[in-house]
Amino acid sequence: MELFQHTIGDTITLRGEGIITGKDITVELIPSPPNHGLVFERTDLSPSLFIRVAPENVFATEGASLIRSGHDQILFIEHLLATLNGLAIDNLLIRVNGPEIPLLDGSALPFVEAILEVGRRPQWSLRRHLRIVSEFTIKSDDSEIIFSPAPELRLHCIIDFPHPVIGHQEIELTVTPESFLSEIAYARTFGFLQELIKRREQGLLRGGSLENAIILDEDRVLNPDGLRDPKEFVRHKLLDFMGDIYILGAPILGAIKVIKSSHKFHIKAIKTLLAHSNVWDWFPGPARLPVKPMKCLEPACALA
Ligand SMILES: [Zn+2]
Repeated sequence: MELFQHTIGDTITLRGEGIITGKDITVELIPSPPNHGLVFERTDLSPSLFIRVAPENVFATEGASLIRSGHDQILFIEHLLATLNGLAIDNLLIRVNGPEIPLLDGSALPFVEAILEVGRRPQWSLRRHLRIVSEFTIKSDDSEIIFSPAPELRLHCIIDFPHPVIGHQEIELTVTPESFLSEIAYARTFGFLQELIKRREQGLLRGGSLENAIILDEDRVLNPDGLRDPKEFVRHKLLDFMGDIYILGAPILGAIKVIKSSHKFHIKAIKTLLAHSNVWDWFPGPARLPVKPMKCLEPACALA
């Protein structure tokens, strides 16, 4: 368990094609002071729009999670949030000049590599964890998520796709920055060719290629280099879940079993968990936290 908050050592800039807009998108990650939290900024809007990462601002579509304020949103926040959860980064301003985070190679690896290059910077403020204190289950059709008490974040993810390359896959992991790096970060998102053709015909996809995802037809992987690992699919589902639970802006202490879930169900599960305050508490408790957040060093950041 990481006891103290962290930001990153220096500003990072990443560029990639947005698969919805087809435009070149720039993402800047800017170090922020203790208790600032994670804040997105849409710099293409005038004035630019700041949205704090918090459950009330996060929603999901069939294939992505998004953060929204009014009519404006940022899609595909999940792989970046998974990276920040995996590397235990608490405070960051995330500037993006469009309505989506680029998928890059479809995994968390480009974000992870960029952050490791500038390093994590410790901050001498305590980290607050959401600690599960009794078992809580949320179920809908085939999907189920079970939260149980544990002294660290332990995840068990199960998927079942009626596809010859995927089928039934499971992974269990105690999450640390090291296990996130070696087991999860490299796993790419995946999609099915017929669905992608349909979305492109409907004008919902203007970018995207085999560079951004694993693409499958009815019986095989179409990417020339194949898979990075036979269980890349379930590893990616776990990656997505790690991103979606970090909408709390705080890490979870608990064991979580995730069965045949989706972004929509992840977000619903987190919001439902929060509403049941008898099954979790804050650790350490609020009395040990500073009362007032420090001001952001970034002059434009209105939220700090
Ligand atoms: Zn994903």
